[in-house]
Amino acid sequence: MIKYNLKCKNSHEFESWFSNSKEFEKLSSKKMIECMHCKSKEVKKSIMSPLVLNKDEKIKKDKSLKDFKKVQKELIKIRKFVEKNFENVGKDFAREIRNVYYDNRKNKNIYGNATPEETEELKEEGIEVTSIPWVKKGDN
Ligand SMILES: [Zn+2]
Repeated sequence: MIKYNLKCKNSHEFESWFSNSKEFEKLSSKKMIECMHCKSKEVKKSIMSPLVLNKDEKIKKDKSLKDFKKVQKELIKIRKFVEKNFENVGKDFAREIRNVYYDNRKNKNIYGNATPEETEELKEEGIEVTSIPWVKKGDN
């Protein structure tokens, strides 16, 4: 399942779940996604604004920083989970994932690094990979 932030032509923003990115593309191209506020069928994925860490004192009291910390905590949890349950294959990720993907006998979880080009190639082959923002542990 994947959650997208969506925005209609009248700038209403809402969230919706899809089983994968392909399902979103399919529904979107058939105009089967409807704004929950105005029923407009002109709905696009909205780009989430990037999180910026600003050291300004005023902003430290800001809610957005608290949210940032919360997200960061979640990301650390994800990182720990991945490190515990996935095998690190480092730079061989693109090669290793093909080994696992095309060999039904192999079934293991792996993680590692891939260049944007390699990631594109994997996508073209129909191999869904997810990139995780890799946060430092124990920074605070
Ligand atoms: Zn709308």
